[in-house]
Amino acid sequence: MSAIDWKGLLFGYFKTDYNIRCSYINGKWGKLEVSDSEYITLHIAATCLHYGQEAFEGMKAFTGIDGKIRIFRLDENGKRMNRSALGLMMPEIPAELFREAVIKAVKLNIKHIPPHGHGASLYIRPLLIGTGAQVGVSPAKEYMFLIFVGPVGPYFKEGFSPVRMQIVKDFDRAAPLGTGSIKVGGNYAASLRAGDRAHQEGYASAIFLDAKEKKYIDEAGPANFFGIKNNTYVTPDSVSILPSITNMSLRVIAEEMGMKVEKRQIPVEELAEFEEVGACGTAAVISPICKIVDRETGKEYIYCKNGKAGPISEKLYNKLKGIQEGLEPDKYGWITVLE
Ligand SMILES: *Cc1c(COP(=O)(O)O)cnc(C)c1O
Repeated sequence: MSAIDWKGLLFGYFKTDYNIRCSYINGKWGKLEVSDSEYITLHIAATCLHYGQEAFEGMKAFTGIDGKIRIFRLDENGKRMNRSALGLMMPEIPAELFREAVIKAVKLNIKHIPPHGHGASLYIRPLLIGTGAQVGVSPAKEYMFLIFVGPVGPYFKEGFSPVRMQIVKDFDRAAPLGTGSIKVGGNYAASLRAGDRAHQEGYASAIFLDAKEKKYIDEAGPANFFGIKNNTYVTPDSVSILPSITNMSLRVIAEEMGMKVEKRQIPVEELAEFEEVGACGTAAVISPICKIVDRETGKEYIYCKNGKAGPISEKLYNKLKGIQEGLEPDKYGWITVLE
């Protein structure tokens, strides 16, 4: 049958059979089209190339313990993509069209969905770009919405293992009234230098502080930050953070587990008070953090003993993974089961 090495999958691009495309022309969305090409043809003056009219999403489909395919919080991703569209003056994608496109992309590549049990999943990447030509700065008149998918391995090959992170003050990924709260490529471009330097210096990611005052924890690289103390899950409230759907879900689970949940500013000094800290997002669900170093002052915050993640992070992680893989009931209607 399939020759895919499910156990050896990385988190990276993987060619599958088909992708989905849809064009916006003359003020309306056309029909969904299926393509077997990995390429698109673009006008050299397309606004996505020059003026950053580009937004994306990231979500996953899982094979459950019962063999059924489950897509996690598809409608939330659609809503977020529309917030991004609004933010960059791109047309919104009707919820039904988004849903239909995601399901179609998954179904057409069914043989690329990893089976249950290896921690692998099918990563789904919706993309919205300005394709119309403009030379003066203004929004395009034409757009393309596309979705490609690909199998990805578990984020942590050796299980749930904590990482080190670095606080940076000499870079910002987004301005307070800028595009930090929407999922657009420009934020990622702006974070590359800090991220690359953090990697070279031995850290998994850079932690950005609020751009205005440099006093509060903002974004943990490409993920949201959370800390746990006194049975409370604390996550930053900031206008420049991308509202993570994983974080949103973890807050619900934390409350269900009897914890308090606080969404508020987190001053850097408070890092000394947390019992556990982590980053959260679709790729890893939770990346527990064992150590945070302030690059400027050299101050260190240490969280785990003998390289192990804290018990609460692990419990939250297992619960969310359990819902995604059908081991736990889907009480909140987060899952779309494929027929
Ligand atoms: C996508 C993203 C996240 C995580 O969001 P999820 O919906 O949980 O995947 C966090 N921060 C940034 C900057 C992101 O782009």
